[in-house]
Amino acid sequence: MGAPLYGVIGNPIGHSRSPAIHRAFAEQTDIALQYDALLAPLDGFEATVAGFRAAGGRGLNVTVPFKAQAYALCGVRTPRAERAGAVNTLIFPANPGGLVEGDNTDGAGLLADLHRLGVPLNGRRILLLGAGGATRGVLEPLLAAHPAELFIANRSPDKAQALAQDFLALAQPGQLRAGGFADIPPAPFDLIINATAASLAGEQLPLPRAILTPATLAYDMAYGATPTVFLRWAESFGAQTADGLGMLVEQAAESFWRWHSIRPETEPVLRSLRETLQSR
Ligand code: NDP
Repeated sequence: MGAPLYGVIGNPIGHSRSPAIHRAFAEQTDIALQYDALLAPLDGFEATVAGFRAAGGRGLNVTVPFKAQAYALCGVRTPRAERAGAVNTLIFPANPGGLVEGDNTDGAGLLADLHRLGVPLNGRRILLLGAGGATRGVLEPLLAAHPAELFIANRSPDKAQALAQDFLALAQPGQLRAGGFADIPPAPFDLIINATAASLAGEQLPLPRAILTPATLAYDMAYGATPTVFLRWAESFGAQTADGLGMLVEQAAESFWRWHSIRPETEPVLRSLRETLQSR
């Protein structure tokens, strides 16, 4: 019998760093596993998952655009996946008839990375850009860290407002507000998180300059060999910056823990991933 099967499923998937990260974690912790990238047709997510499971698959990471479909496929979900409305980690029981469990490790990944960077959240003013799956996944842990204020801004303001409404019960009165980019209060924020897909398209967001000071951390969930447009914009006004490579490694570590009950060290894996990315 071969090593237990794991993988990441998405479309496209060729760019995914998850196989490199999980293989590095496995080597570090002496766990035998096979971790592959699976390209699922846009109309073939469930069939691809079923095939993987039939071949003995034990777990899958799920990426764009299948996180909502993964949520629907699960027989049981963790409370954080339930609240996020999206699943990025599937856990298949050894018993082929057993229920598939779904988890969402994006929020834990972001919080772990902010902790690694030494970013305080308690009592701070946070601006969260975007109202998609990633924003939904990080809202609960961000609110649980007691920021003074959390403003969600999105290109489609109604989506930001609906999202804020969904999480209002977890917030203190006046703590959580939402709107379009034009509604952003033009005053400095301590932390600005870009969770839009604009960076992937290389597009600049219409943000007021007044939201930045040299003490602001501009954090882009996207990452690449060079800084994103959003990070370059923030840098040009003297703000501090960080990209989402650390979040990627930390959310992978949380998935790894869910599958193997062991927490890998993230720092060396992040360092080597950064070197690989920059040498391209
Ligand atoms: P979704 O497709 O669910 O949401 C996309 C969001 O981006 C929406 O709010 C959308 O606004 C907005 N958007 C898209 N294009 C533009 C644009 N040109 N200008 C302004 N807003 C735009 O994506 P996700 O939430 O899953 O992912 C968002 C980003 O976060 C991606 O870059 C993804 O790679 C990254 N990510 C990184 C992770 C990591 O570990 N580092 C983990 C998860 C995500 P509208 O509602 O108006 O359409």
